[in-house]
Amino acid sequence: MKFNTKTIHGGQHNIDPAYGSVMPPIYQTSTYSQSTPGGHKGFEYSRSGNPTRAALENALASIENGEFGLAFGSGLAAIDAVMKLFKPGDEIISTNDLYGGSYRLFTKIFEGLGLKFHFIGMQDASKIEAYINEKTKLIWVETPTNPMMNIIDITACAKLAKTHKVLLAVDNTFATPYLQLPLDLGADIVMHSATKYLGGHSDVVMGSLVVKDKKLADRLYFIQNASGAVCGPQDSFLVLRGIKTLHIRMQRHCENGEKVANFLKSHPKVDKVYWPGFEDHPNYDIAKAQMKGFGGMISFTTSEKTLESAVKFVENLKVFTLAESLGGVESLAGHPASMTHASIPKEEREKIGVVDSLIRLSVGIEDEEDLIEDIKQALG
Ligand SMILES: *Cc1c(COP(=O)(O)O)cnc(C)c1O
Repeated sequence: MKFNTKTIHGGQHNIDPAYGSVMPPIYQTSTYSQSTPGGHKGFEYSRSGNPTRAALENALASIENGEFGLAFGSGLAAIDAVMKLFKPGDEIISTNDLYGGSYRLFTKIFEGLGLKFHFIGMQDASKIEAYINEKTKLIWVETPTNPMMNIIDITACAKLAKTHKVLLAVDNTFATPYLQLPLDLGADIVMHSATKYLGGHSDVVMGSLVVKDKKLADRLYFIQNASGAVCGPQDSFLVLRGIKTLHIRMQRHCENGEKVANFLKSHPKVDKVYWPGFEDHPNYDIAKAQMKGFGGMISFTTSEKTLESAVKFVENLKVFTLAESLGGVESLAGHPASMTHASIPKEEREKIGVVDSLIRLSVGIEDEEDLIEDIKQALG
């Protein structure tokens, strides 16, 4: 099956043996009757497994070209489960330009439990090797990065990971499997905040992991069940529905993203524009090689370079909504320094470019003319 067909049918067979419903029923149940102790029909208790969640987990595995999918109550719950694979003393190398909540989870929770993190720039993947030692267990990659839209070479990271027998995990939230397939490029774990493009309608918070290896899947399933950060059947249904239009939404996000990025680049009140589809983006060649398109996430700084100019811009927007999050059908604007990335110390975030005048746009699937008109008036 090819990708577009998979978003609709992937992993979905024998959905409803009772009545043949085309969509999986929402099994709003915590438990399942047994005819005799242990005599159940595949489900015992909904933390351990639920048919609606299972339908979603199969769909996730299918669209990421993996074997096993796991759905969680949020993206951070999914990352939390990955980190529980490790024990005190283990080391993790993470990109230094990452989702603020991931950084907070790593430094405020897991460092306290004895994991050691190295946060480094990964735009040049050869720089990673110097940080690998016998305690290293995982390389954590986010690409494109949030919010600086840097691109990390997944294939190069996978080669390093294989050579040194460490795991490679990729947060694929920004790209989605429509644009990039990390497992095909050699990653071991692909993670999503399904809250964003997979759900796609800003109506649910959810996370997911997909892997190919059975042993790794078993360990993660054990953690999912033992720690219990699962998502409910209603939310599973919503994301399953969202995935069915992922390919057409992403196509439009890419088209509108390109138009908005080019408009920003030509505007005198805009200083820098960060979008991997520009030929002068430092890792354009890697983006072109590992992604099918460049997406609808764009960051930029104002030419005034002040906090006030950025705040004024986001306050003036009428079609774009000032809000956290991304990846929905509606266009959103955010101010990373005070919103998504406020948990990263000012000094740390400015080192990677998250300055006070930086604005992040999640370009939606509205008419491009309306989006550009809105940006024009807000900059004016
Ligand atoms: C939102 C986000 C997360 C966290 O996901 P939640 O669903 O909010 O817990 C992780 N990584 C990236 C890139 C994100 O955008």
